[in-house]
Amino acid sequence: MQLVQGKVVLVTGASRGIGRAIANKFAEAGAHVAFTYLSSVEKGEALVKELEAYGVKAKGYRSDASMFEAAEELVNAVVADFGQIDVLINNAGITMDGLLMRMTEEQWDDVIRVNLKSVFNLTKAVIKPMMKAKSGSIVNMTSIVGLKGNAGQANYAASKAGIIGFTKSVALELGSRNIRCNSIAPGFIETEMTGELNEATVEEWKKSIPLKRGGEASEVANVCLFLGSYLSSYVTGQTIQVNGGLLT
Ligand code: NAP
Repeated sequence: MQLVQGKVVLVTGASRGIGRAIANKFAEAGAHVAFTYLSSVEKGEALVKELEAYGVKAKGYRSDASMFEAAEELVNAVVADFGQIDVLINNAGITMDGLLMRMTEEQWDDVIRVNLKSVFNLTKAVIKPMMKAKSGSIVNMTSIVGLKGNAGQANYAASKAGIIGFTKSVALELGSRNIRCNSIAPGFIETEMTGELNEATVEEWKKSIPLKRGGEASEVANVCLFLGSYLSSYVTGQTIQVNGGLLT
């Protein structure tokens, strides 16, 4: 059986980093890919061509995942364009770091809105078509920071821990409808987001990782493909860590 051949996946924040790797992974496995971006317009347009090269249907939508009505409009547009949404990957996320003493209300609100409210927005919008189809898989991108906390990231940690509670609740609510909901907690993955960290911090992280290296975006995408496919048909409400053993 093909993993996700002919299925429709919606990935938020796929213009760069982990989201881009996820979009490529699903397209390579034969899924049709709808994805979003916000500021990286050119990268989003280039991704469409990259995905179409796999012989699947692909379309990028400029849509702010943190806006409730925009999420609803997006899901309606994807269903109109693709007919269905089988897999939703809530990947879009930002960091606005700072010690709590100096963290502004805006830094707190923005990170909660983009990282956590977006997951609520998209999940709420997608459950109608998934309930109609009597199946679906939702994958939410949390973080090792949501499990462990991190000095200077109280806003980010709260948003990512919130995703874990949300994921479990959705799994409990929608299991009887054959809709699964899981989250992935990456550790240190080399993308533009972690590219902002200074070299000394990165070296310190790497030393403490049992596998002695940062992860690649494609290694997170592999787990996404597992959670989006029939291979994980009896897995729901879980958080899978992809961190080279960092929390072991
Ligand atoms: P990244 O390289 O900074 O990419 C973030 C993506 O999210 C971009 O495509 C960006 O699109 C999109 N985005 C940001 N705000 C958005 C919004 N309001 N609406 C729609 N899209 C938006 O980040 P990444 O490292 O790939 O991280 C992806 C996810 O994994 C995030 O949720 C992050 O928290 C999580 N994560 C990452 C790591 C890591 O080590 N990298 C570790 C743990 C968890 P535009 O460029 O178009 O704005």
